[in-house]
Amino acid sequence: MAKKNINFYSVKGTHDILPSEQYIWEKIRKEIRDVAETYSFSRIDTPIIENLDLFQRGVGEATDIVEKQMFTLTTKGGDKLVLRPEGTSAIARAYIQHGLSHVGQPLKVYYEGPFFRYENPQAGRYRQFHQAGFEIIGGENDPIYDVQVMLANLRLLESLKLKNISIHVNSIGCKTCRPIYKKKLLSYYKSKKKEICKDCNRRMNDNPLRLLDCKDEKCEVVKKSAPIMIDDLCATCRRHFKEVLEYAEELKLPYQINPFVVRGLDYYNRTVFEFFTEINNAEGEKSLSLALGGGGRYDYLFEIFGQRSTPAVGAALGLERIAEVIKSLKINIPVRQKNKVFLIVIGIEAKKRGMSLVEEFVKSGINISESMGKNSLGAQLKAADKEGAVLALILGQKEVFKESIIIRDMKTGVQETILLKKVVAEIKRRV
Ligand code: AMP
Repeated sequence: MAKKNINFYSVKGTHDILPSEQYIWEKIRKEIRDVAETYSFSRIDTPIIENLDLFQRGVGEATDIVEKQMFTLTTKGGDKLVLRPEGTSAIARAYIQHGLSHVGQPLKVYYEGPFFRYENPQAGRYRQFHQAGFEIIGGENDPIYDVQVMLANLRLLESLKLKNISIHVNSIGCKTCRPIYKKKLLSYYKSKKKEICKDCNRRMNDNPLRLLDCKDEKCEVVKKSAPIMIDDLCATCRRHFKEVLEYAEELKLPYQINPFVVRGLDYYNRTVFEFFTEINNAEGEKSLSLALGGGGRYDYLFEIFGQRSTPAVGAALGLERIAEVIKSLKINIPVRQKNKVFLIVIGIEAKKRGMSLVEEFVKSGINISESMGKNSLGAQLKAADKEGAVLALILGQKEVFKESIIIRDMKTGVQETILLKKVVAEIKRRV
């Protein structure tokens, strides 16, 4: 029977990050760690699989994520699991599970890793993508934390040399003022039913705030005259929002109020925000606004989980988007320094001695390259050249026998022989 051909393509909507691209990802991860350290966020890692109901309850049934985008699976034991579509619900779960409310509050944590959403793959949208996020959970319900989360994300983007960043900020109120506003919004949209898209007609019933972030051309026109939430904030939410803006002003954050940022997930209240950058399109002319990430306050999430009410705020950035902007703007990211020294071995005895010599170098803090699988001197010299080595160390049968080694200057070709036991100290002196 003929064997079926294996499909050698990565699964739809997923992508490999090849060795040649890793320097960008390493740089992004390094800056995430540095920003976290600067602003005292500790790392948290949660599993990639979680229970399905965590997101159904946390993110909300009437959201795109839960309705259409979750990768779900059922275990042999019948448990319903999901590949995590976002980080916040899982972090709240860990906070509850491990009693993290008993350590110093607020808890400031950050995360970075893969997330999964069953979306239609298109430019900048994947089914497996990466996010980094900063969260501040517990403690006081203070607007300063909203701004600290914005600041950490902004500093991360700046440290990666992304330009023209703006933070679009809005307040979506609380349990007191939002229902009143929703009624107003709905009565406006009811009069426009015929002018809006099919999705928005559905949203009127299950998630009216999402009417405001529809990108359909017809709906864009309708929403321009829609009532906006900040006109209807209650006194407490109004004060909270005012303070957020004052702190943002004080820090000179590049923010602007955008009444159409609503985020759409059930757990958000009060401050919501999104990060944008302006880039030119492929033809290099038109400036496009690209969403890099977003977040907001989620004071109700713990109540939704049946826990004591706990103030919290957080935001996440999409790392593929950041990597793509870095590539398209040709932002200069230093590539890892290559090793300056290359070891060449000829013959089996030299190979054996060479292996332990590499370890002696590693122990003394010098990394050296080699290509010991190759046999000829010529092939190994070529490899040393390709690697950009400054010095080559050549160990042949004769050298092993005499306990010596040749140091070759790769540029001039000048060679000298020294005692093997002195080579580590000599190289340390030279590089
Ligand atoms: P969200 O919380 O859905 O607004 O996602 C935050 C950020 O993550 C977005 O602004 C994107 O940069 C990124 N992101 C979300 N979904 C995807 C996806 N399917 N593929 C790539 N990046 C994504």
